[in-house]
Amino acid sequence: MIELPDVERMIESIAGYTTGKTISAIRIDDPDVVSLESRIVRDHLEHHAVDSVERHGRYVVLRFRSEYSLVFDMGDDGLLRLESQTAPPTERTRIRFQFAAGRELRFSSSGSQGTVQAVAGHEFDENGALESLGVDPLSEDLTAERFETLAATNSRSTIKGFLLNQKAIAGIGNDYADEICFQAGVRPDLRVHQLRREQLQRLHRYLKRVLRRATLHWTAAHSDPGWLINSRSNGSSCPRCRHELTSLLVTGRKTVICPRCQRAA
Ligand SMILES: [Zn+2]
Repeated sequence: MIELPDVERMIESIAGYTTGKTISAIRIDDPDVVSLESRIVRDHLEHHAVDSVERHGRYVVLRFRSEYSLVFDMGDDGLLRLESQTAPPTERTRIRFQFAAGRELRFSSSGSQGTVQAVAGHEFDENGALESLGVDPLSEDLTAERFETLAATNSRSTIKGFLLNQKAIAGIGNDYADEICFQAGVRPDLRVHQLRREQLQRLHRYLKRVLRRATLHWTAAHSDPGWLINSRSNGSSCPRCRHELTSLLVTGRKTVICPRCQRAA
């Protein structure tokens, strides 16, 4: 599953080149997954410049100067990447945005994963495609108070289920949810209401810390022996206390914990 830090890295690798450049042509390779009205493509996207590339949770938004935006739902394995126009598209290629200089931005995904939606500027801001998406965990909007309020409305769910609830907080997937719980020393299979207030505040602090580090220092985080994310394979031992890690099923998802470092409330 694509998670927020992965999307952030993807945006970093494409934004510098695409921002301010005009799209000379759009090629839709898979009309089953990408259904864009040809009128919108012709009048509002082709021959218009990209204004910005933004992230909202796990979504990528390509804003055009025409005031139209394309919203990419990355699904489990969506990928946005710059390629040469001479490289042939693969069976995963869904849509290509070509630039005059010979490069193109490609969106690829597998199966029916990943969608692209065109949204007019005003709809996007007022009642658009992202309305049902929760608060972005790295934005200043997710304060400790807001986190506590969200926790109160999700008090019956497991902590893991709460962190994965995209309508509450957008962008956290399986592996980072486990990492946040591990770093905060909290068991993900507890119910939210079982946490004391200080544990909830600690969870909020580590949520910010883990995602910020994974976003700003992805390589360092993904090679840090102190991070659970690098010890998820079966039979691994805890990065902190060397106790054997346990694999559970929480909210239907594989969940890795250290039974010694992550205690019941
Ligand atoms: Zn441990």
